[in-house]
Amino acid sequence: MNRNPSRAVRVGAVTLGGGHPVAVQSMCATRTQDVDATVEQAEAIRKAGGDVVRVAVDSPKDVDALAEIRRQTTANLVVDLQENYRLAAKVAPHVDKVRYNPGHLYHHEKDKPVREKVRFLAEVAREHDCAMRVGVNCGSVDPDTKARHPEDDVAAMVESAIDHCRMLDELGFARYVVSLKDSHPRKVIEANVRFAALRPDVPLHLGVTEAGIPPEGVVKTRVAFEQLLTRGIGDTIRVSLTLPNPRKHEEVTVGRQILADIAAGRFRSVPVFDDDRLNIISCPSCSRVENERFVELAEAVKAMSAYAERHALTIAVMGCRVNGPGETDDADLGLWCGPTHVNLKRKTEAVGAFTYDEILDRLRRELDQLIASRSAAAVPSR
Ligand code: SF4
Repeated sequence: MNRNPSRAVRVGAVTLGGGHPVAVQSMCATRTQDVDATVEQAEAIRKAGGDVVRVAVDSPKDVDALAEIRRQTTANLVVDLQENYRLAAKVAPHVDKVRYNPGHLYHHEKDKPVREKVRFLAEVAREHDCAMRVGVNCGSVDPDTKARHPEDDVAAMVESAIDHCRMLDELGFARYVVSLKDSHPRKVIEANVRFAALRPDVPLHLGVTEAGIPPEGVVKTRVAFEQLLTRGIGDTIRVSLTLPNPRKHEEVTVGRQILADIAAGRFRSVPVFDDDRLNIISCPSCSRVENERFVELAEAVKAMSAYAERHALTIAVMGCRVNGPGETDDADLGLWCGPTHVNLKRKTEAVGAFTYDEILDRLRRELDQLIASRSAAAVPSR
């Protein structure tokens, strides 16, 4: 396979881009403060062939746990920052790469220019010998960029990524990679193709976010990766699957299998993902999951909604309040989990919060109503 001439970016003991083999990543879904469980999962990912392991850090207590996790695993570690970008200064000494989301950066300390925040992150990364990932998600692009592309959310994603590359370039920081993710493989393909045409020098981290439960989640991911890697696009991959903790390392096994199949010319996808059927997206979970019943709930939603298989509807199931409210906006019905209740939405409109025992029945009612209203709308009036 020809590969794009991306530059080499070292992340701990592994190098992304620059013609190096495509690296495989995964993310811990255990509570970061549960050091034993997180070390066990990081090691399981590493032993399954994971080159890089991501951990979420949201608080000073998570930082303390991270320092201990660093001591107990040899995995190349990446930390995932959310709105509190200043935590980077505390986590960087313990990790090999820092990931930030430009959309989340925008919302914190609104009076401070984004460029200043990026400068802070670049300085921290440089000081602690860390690489960086600019991780753009379609569901959380900053409002100004989004507003410039009301009809083209892929363009908004690409513009956000290009802007941040420019800022990092101007700061003289070249040790970064970019990701452009969405839950739909078509948008992932489009975004990465457009970005790579503009910046073939920047290593790309590929992923279909919230791909969901296997096997559908694997199919969506495979469709995107086959289309991109065969064009020479992609230097590292992450397969995001909704899996219970003891099976989390299977994300790496699946990723390695997809890479091996592509290398051997074993293609299984037609480059179209079926938009005419029920699409269930669910996040892969991480330490931010607010109730351990999340994976079980995602599986129950899939089983319950099977009767609606032939309806072109999207149901999103997300594990927490960090990404849940925003990333469900585009779904016809969205669920995001709190500690004791599950929040239900119709597109951007909140329906209410329901207990874990109530939510399935309520979702079923909403789904029935949606199908009925669409059927009524499809009947021509006389
Ligand atoms: S929605 Fe929340 S729990 Fe799920 S992967 Fe994203 S941050 Fe983690």
